[in-house]
Amino acid sequence: MPENRNYDVIRIEELEIYANHGVFAEETKLGQKFFVNAALYTQTRCAGRADDLALSTNYGEVCMEISRFLTEHTYRLLEAAAERLAERLLLTFPKIHELELEIRKPSAPIPLPFQSVSVVVRRGWKRAVIACGANLGEKERTIREAVDKIRQDEKCRVLRESALIVTKPYGGVAQDDFVNGAFLIETLYDAEELLCFLNRLEAEAGRQRLVHWGPRTLDLDIIFYEDEIIRTEKLTVPHADMQNRDFVLEPLAEIAPEWMHPVFHKTAAELLERLES
Ligand code: ATP
Ligand code: MG
Ligand code: MG
Repeated sequence: MPENRNYDVIRIEELEIYANHGVFAEETKLGQKFFVNAALYTQTRCAGRADDLALSTNYGEVCMEISRFLTEHTYRLLEAAAERLAERLLLTFPKIHELELEIRKPSAPIPLPFQSVSVVVRRGWKRAVIACGANLGEKERTIREAVDKIRQDEKCRVLRESALIVTKPYGGVAQDDFVNGAFLIETLYDAEELLCFLNRLEAEAGRQRLVHWGPRTLDLDIIFYEDEIIRTEKLTVPHADMQNRDFVLEPLAEIAPEWMHPVFHKTAAELLERLES
């Protein structure tokens, strides 16, 4: 993590709700009791010091939201109910950084003696760094529009934006100068979903992939996603070549100077120094 924040917990235990989730027709028709447990990871210090509810998350409101959500919707799976409810809570209560949510179904239709079944999910806002580059059309404007679209997406919050810098093309293809930058976001997307979202923004900016490392209206790459190390066919995180690119490291040093590369264990400034030496 770029920042070592210690979270406090607000806990809700055994909130009882009568709702209609289940695979069987009787379950959706008749309904049954569900119990919800939640641990809300947040920072309570300011609210605690000032003794002011406005600085915290109102657990009464959270309980009402859970109850409303689970009674207004019908899901076949507890997994679906938990997934959607977790997302709803994270979007509704911005001070909750992460949460653990358990939905328990003590009357599930199982023809055996048992106490309860439940699904537990842990979801939260994840930090990521995105690098952007453009060398066709109105470069700065394209980048600014993309950042605005990211800001407007409810599952993303833009925390910091670097200055945009003009750089020479990389990779040996003759072309116009680039404008590059980076920004730090918090997102509810996982890394693959984030890539899809960024690819959509590239497409909306008219990106065509004709030549690798060739001219482009917009390139949006994931540099870091939390401290995750991902190596799949679609995605390499941290970005595979970032350590060799001053046009990535410079903006990165500006917006996330403390973020340690999880493989090289170096900050952007340290990687830049190595690149220049
Ligand atoms: P480079 O990745 O060297 O900067 P590029 O950004 O020009 O080159 P693109 O054409 O934008 O390359 O992307 C090619 C593929 O790279 C994408 O389809 C995507 O699946 C994959 N990819 C792998 N890792 C990442 C990452 N961290 N961020 C963005 N795309 C990635
Ligand atoms: Mg790129
Ligand atoms: Mg790319």
